[in-house]
Amino acid sequence: MQRRAALFLLACIPFFTACAIIPISKSSPPPPPVTLKRAQFLMGTLVELTAVAPGDVIAQAALTAGFQEIRRLENMLSTWIETSELSRVNQAAGLEPIGVSAETFDLLRRALEVAEYTEGGFNIAIGPAVRLWNIPEAPRIPAARELDIAAQYVDHRRIHLDPTRRTVFLEKPGMRIDIGGIGKGFAAEKAAAVMREIGATGGLVAVAGDFRVFGRRADGTAWPIGIQHPREPGKILATLDATDEAVSTSGDYERYFMQDGVRYHHILDPKTLQPARLCQSVTIIAPDATTADALATGVFVMGPVRGLALAERLGLGAVIVDAGGGISISSHARNRVKLSP
Ligand code: ADP
Ligand code: MG
Repeated sequence: MQRRAALFLLACIPFFTACAIIPISKSSPPPPPVTLKRAQFLMGTLVELTAVAPGDVIAQAALTAGFQEIRRLENMLSTWIETSELSRVNQAAGLEPIGVSAETFDLLRRALEVAEYTEGGFNIAIGPAVRLWNIPEAPRIPAARELDIAAQYVDHRRIHLDPTRRTVFLEKPGMRIDIGGIGKGFAAEKAAAVMREIGATGGLVAVAGDFRVFGRRADGTAWPIGIQHPREPGKILATLDATDEAVSTSGDYERYFMQDGVRYHHILDPKTLQPARLCQSVTIIAPDATTADALATGVFVMGPVRGLALAERLGLGAVIVDAGGGISISSHARNRVKLSP
């Protein structure tokens, strides 16, 4: 019996070999992936999308869908748009809870989580202070009295989320949510997901300083990301290769004004309502862009010592440039980040 089975198998070998060889020798190699890039002005900044896909049609569709997704989120979340869900939440401060979409609710939940991690360094209740400083539109230093009044409303523990009803309630009239420190990352995350759903095998979403990458480039390599030097415009401080992760940088060098030799910039310390003074820039490398964006802002406020300790605790990559220009890198990023000479 066994011999017969063995003979049968031997007899089959040419057949199997033929089957195995014929399709390979007949089919042409798959076409190389296509890479397309496009830029649009959205969320008050330049958004650049890159898609890698098996063909031109899919790559184009992925880009179009990515931009559409960011525009949809902007309309839902921007506090510059009066009809957005978040504007309605702000308008109802002290009055009533407002029902929101699952996505807005999720964003706010994440923001409050990061507020806890960063011991209040990241605080989306910062709205009234952001309005007073109004950087960079109408730069002026608010009076101490104005900041004292605003301080009464900057308390993230007075933002109430009700998961059962999916409502948001700002306890005091005058409170105002500002998602400037997390919204771009959230949008980058969602845009990348949509591009992937459409069929892009790789992609890069860049919303100002918030990068989200997925898959690989057309040549199979990872996505090189440059971190801007905070004091030398146009110079790259460091680079890293990223795959399926997010890299966000918060700095004091893009939105700021100088007065009497002092730099006033747009990341405020919720304790003083003054521009945070301990860092020049913070880059966070995290699995998702929402976390990376919010933590970059929060760690900037916490400063290099507490900020680095937090990055270590969360197991995230961090590159922190302190107020004096000194650079610290968390252990998760140390062997990945290449400092420029
Ligand atoms: P960018 O918007 O330049 O990418 P960030 O992600 O650091 O930089 O966000 C800064 C924005 O976040 C500010 O313009 C403001 O709207 C808001 N913001 C300022 N200070 C804080 C803070 N301590 N916590 C949360 N958001 C803040
Ligand atoms: Mg941020």
